[in-house]
Amino acid sequence: MLRGMSMLPARPRRSFARVLLDEAWDALLPQQCIVCGRFGASLHVGCLDALPRADGPRCARCWRPDVRGTCARCAEGGPDAPAFDALRAPFRFEGLARRALLEAKFRGVTAHLGPLGRAAAALVPDDWRPEAVVAVPLGRRRERTRGFNQAREAARAVAEVLGVPLVDGLVRRGRETAPQAMLDADARHLNLRGAFEVVGTPPGRVLVVDDVTTTGSTLSEVAAALRAAGTSNVYTLAMARED
Ligand SMILES: [Zn+2]
Ligand SMILES: [Zn+2]
Repeated sequence: MLRGMSMLPARPRRSFARVLLDEAWDALLPQQCIVCGRFGASLHVGCLDALPRADGPRCARCWRPDVRGTCARCAEGGPDAPAFDALRAPFRFEGLARRALLEAKFRGVTAHLGPLGRAAAALVPDDWRPEAVVAVPLGRRRERTRGFNQAREAARAVAEVLGVPLVDGLVRRGRETAPQAMLDADARHLNLRGAFEVVGTPPGRVLVVDDVTTTGSTLSEVAAALRAAGTSNVYTLAMARED
């Protein structure tokens, strides 16, 4: 899903013991804010103002920029319209927001995801009223390799702010899919078809969280799986949108 990942070298495959060691080491090192350079946090809440806001007029449903009201794709409601009711993201995937999310994903700086998740939660309108927060799951193999799911770290912060339970295991990857970053929009859609499955009976109103979204196709596929399983309202949040 993220382009330009070559800028940041991925950490090599980490065993569980290695993850624990990395976490212990990270805990010992003083954290330095990526915005102001002061120590004490990887990203101060007050420094979030330096990140590029996803502001200006946007589609009320899919959050596409430069749209007043609802974009044509969402208004037509055809097969190309997203399966979710709405998407919101506080930041554009560029500059410091991009850096923070790439560091979280590829270098394991998950501390960035707390403040980013809280910024995303602040965009949730009162009328969404989700009963559960769900993170877009990684494939089991990819989560084992990485040692964590960055979307889940963000979702945990969102759930805390909203006072809504974070539900693990409700949605899972049905099969391993190719990384979305390698694919164009049409191929992304096909790549994800049937990629998610819902385990058990989901609540009626669910909030799905991902770290970054481009076309919203991943969030839409999760929403489609939830709807097929009986959820009536699916709302979605990403920390940043690649406009
Ligand atoms: Zn700072
Ligand atoms: Zn739209």
